[in-house]
Amino acid sequence: MRGWDSESRLGDNRRMGSVESISIARRTGVCYGVREAIDKAKLASAEGKATHTLGHVVHNEGLIADLHQRGIENVESLDQVQEGAAVVIRAHGVTPEVLERAVSRGLEVIDGTCTWVVQEHRELAKLVDEGYDIVLLGTPNHPEVVGLLGFAPDAILVDEEEDWVKIPRRKRMALITQSTQPPWKFERLAAFMVSRCHELKVVNTVCPVTIRRQEDTLEAARAVDLMVVVGGSKSANTKELTRLCEINGTRAVQIESAKELTDAAQFAGVKRVGVTGGTSTPIEDLEVVVRTIAQLAGTEGMKAKAAEIAHEALAAAATPQYRTTSLSTSDAS
Ligand code: SF4
Repeated sequence: MRGWDSESRLGDNRRMGSVESISIARRTGVCYGVREAIDKAKLASAEGKATHTLGHVVHNEGLIADLHQRGIENVESLDQVQEGAAVVIRAHGVTPEVLERAVSRGLEVIDGTCTWVVQEHRELAKLVDEGYDIVLLGTPNHPEVVGLLGFAPDAILVDEEEDWVKIPRRKRMALITQSTQPPWKFERLAAFMVSRCHELKVVNTVCPVTIRRQEDTLEAARAVDLMVVVGGSKSANTKELTRLCEINGTRAVQIESAKELTDAAQFAGVKRVGVTGGTSTPIEDLEVVVRTIAQLAGTEGMKAKAAEIAHEALAAAATPQYRTTSLSTSDAS
């Protein structure tokens, strides 16, 4: 027998149903860096190698489960990998010391570091060679930042604006950033640093995928009453999308997957909903999210056509050639 609460909630769900339209932000889906790391792991496993990933290559339950099913094991330390086995470095990259240790332990290193992050490593090493005092904008302890600091151990790491006062005054300074930091924050920090030094070199390493995704999320947020942001709870770029929506004045709900959408009250009085996703979220997951919202909180007409509406929202999000997708290469699928 159902309790009063669940009867009441079902009743609420039936009564609500104010959502009239749901759209997906353009250019979402798994970014090319994450997709390539996933594909490299799948390929190694398909070739019969004992394959491990050093930390999760992606912040997405479904994709993690898929890798696990293929026999790809996640490890948090190189000590957990047997000699001769393959270890995949995720898109965030690692410090040079970690790479050297993996090689010296006789592991087969499959480097899935995103090409954009590799470029950041090179830029940092160059700044060190040129003798700059380096400021790195990034989230402390984020794996990409940990890897970056391996190339410039003396760099001053700053994140939120309150941190910036700790930046010393020096003659020659350089500013560089973690790939997923918001461009507006990077620009503000660059302006702040002008007063801190005589010479300032600014190396803009904000990833273009991040920039496009934030732009498109903002555009979607401006046109709706509520945004649903889909991505891992630990994903820095997902949190940033949520924050951007809120800065824009649009209420945002952050979820990891459609399974969390069980409370129609979240959509009470909401007519237009936008959906966006972090760089680890397959675009196909967003279709499921749209369908779930339509079923949970759509008008009667929308509930009846939830699957069709979700399919149309996905098709309208972007043309396939411009969107990043979770599709894997044929030989690795
Ligand atoms: S967000 Fe950009 S830098 Fe980070 S993994 Fe994806 S493509 Fe690479």
